[in-house]
Amino acid sequence: MSSNPGTIPDSANPDVVLVGGGIMSATLAALIGVVAPQWSVAVFESGPDVAGESSDAWNNAGTGHAALCELNYTPMGPDGRVDPAKAVTINEQFQVSRQFWSHMVREGMTGSPKDFITPVPHLSFVTGEDGRAYMRTRHAALAAQPLFAGLEYTDDPEELTDWLPLMMAGRNPGQVVAATRAVAGTDVNFGSLTRLLLDDAAGRRGVTVHCNQRVRNLERDTDGRWVVTVQDGVTGERRTVRTRFVFVGAGGGALPLLQRAGIPEIAGFGGFPVSGMFLCTRSPELVGRHQAKVYGQAAVGAPPMSVPHLDLRLIDGDHSLLFGPYAGFSPKFLKAGSVFDLPRSVRVNNLGSLLGVARTELALTRYLIGELLQSRSDRHATLTDFVPEAQEHDWDMVTAGQRVQVIKRDPATGRGVLQFGTELIVGGDGSIAGLLGASPGASTAVSAMLTLLERCFPDRIPAWRPALQEAIPSYGRSLSEDPALLAQVRAQTMQTLELNG
Ligand SMILES: Cc1cc2nc3c(=O)[nH]c(=O)nc-3n(C[C@H](O)[C@H](O)[C@H](O)COP(=O)(O)OP(=O)(O)OC[C@H]3O[C@@H](n4cnc5c(N)ncnc54)[C@H](O)[C@@H]3O)c2cc1C
Repeated sequence: MSSNPGTIPDSANPDVVLVGGGIMSATLAALIGVVAPQWSVAVFESGPDVAGESSDAWNNAGTGHAALCELNYTPMGPDGRVDPAKAVTINEQFQVSRQFWSHMVREGMTGSPKDFITPVPHLSFVTGEDGRAYMRTRHAALAAQPLFAGLEYTDDPEELTDWLPLMMAGRNPGQVVAATRAVAGTDVNFGSLTRLLLDDAAGRRGVTVHCNQRVRNLERDTDGRWVVTVQDGVTGERRTVRTRFVFVGAGGGALPLLQRAGIPEIAGFGGFPVSGMFLCTRSPELVGRHQAKVYGQAAVGAPPMSVPHLDLRLIDGDHSLLFGPYAGFSPKFLKAGSVFDLPRSVRVNNLGSLLGVARTELALTRYLIGELLQSRSDRHATLTDFVPEAQEHDWDMVTAGQRVQVIKRDPATGRGVLQFGTELIVGGDGSIAGLLGASPGASTAVSAMLTLLERCFPDRIPAWRPALQEAIPSYGRSLSEDPALLAQVRAQTMQTLELNG
């Protein structure tokens, strides 16, 4: 993109500006290193360090989402069937992430794969006759898919006790319980991965990472470039940087910045912040009896991100269990945000969407109010559905990151709808893009950033394809339809990332 390729342009005028130092910007910086290593890139992070918000290991659940255990990707249809399509898509996307992370390891990214990814079995867990019937149907639908080969099912109490000793101890023997297990699951420390990717990028000529630098404004100049106003968090000084391409990877801070950029594509979008809390134990005895990530079913009317799960976490060498999430409400869009974030995001062009959601999402409203009114003992009671013998004193509440759920105008009805996935916004003829939303999130960062490259730089993709295919062998192909490639990719990533299963 430099007018004079091979030379590093003036540092005040980088080819690319990445706003925010989370997993999305880190992934895009790494991908640019693959396809256009000569480009200069400046990353601006408002916090004192990168990966301090949603990507920090303690601010998310660290699940390598591959649809191995998350039941919300395989709902039962009105005809009683389970469609595996969504689960296959999510799994393919996680395989793309695995391939790219393997590539980065092979190319000499510092640190060991163990610093950011560890094998942890993924299980789904249901109770009751209906739950068991659903689980059997889901298992049959998924086990037929090559990506889910090896998915095990049981409703045998003895086998369940072997798989889930902590969850089965003290359970009513008359209760119907069923589970599936995928030993190929993972726990991912996205904070550690973000730091490794950004350290690696910063080692390249022309890439700089600036912390304590808040992007205040984005304005299009008459020559088509973006004028980025950056404020130093320590001195308060402001300066401007000019660039041809901006990625707003600011997590919860993306919506306000895209609104400030004034691109028409953001009209109608709003954000609804939901904070997440987890019960946490570091008791070696409890951790020793639960070596898995176990996802249950969301309560009726509850949103997909509220699915209860009990997770083994491996963070910086320490093992712990997290149970949750419990939802909380805060009008902040970032943990370190302002209580005015939500009211300030209201615009004439998104008021209709926001009011529409307030009217239609009554189940969500009821769910959130119910969550907010919960006492400590109510929360403990929810935990005992998973761990019948749980003792309150073993578990502490920890506050995770803020999720800003996307609110958008439904093009069909014109009404506001709440969306639980992510939304890539591309504007200014492909010169600016931003990512809204949180789910499936960090696990699919590589696919999200590949889509960004394809939408913002369509003319360059043919020239970039060989490099992308070298880094991600399945790029542009479907693993679920190519068993030989799937086997090759699996074996290679398992070896490089030191995974089993
Ligand atoms: C409770 C919870 C559980 C989750 N669990 C999982 C999970 O198990 N698996 C999974 O894959 N995903 C999970 N996610 C989602 C995942 O954490 C996010 O999708 C992902 O971390 C988002 O990365 P990001 O880079 O977009 O945002 P962030 O990591 O939030 O990074 C954005 C960065 O931008 C900075 N910033 C903001 N505004 C500005 C500005 N104006 N100028 C400069 N910098 C700015 C912020 O300080 C921050 O560092 C979870 C999220 C939450 C909240």
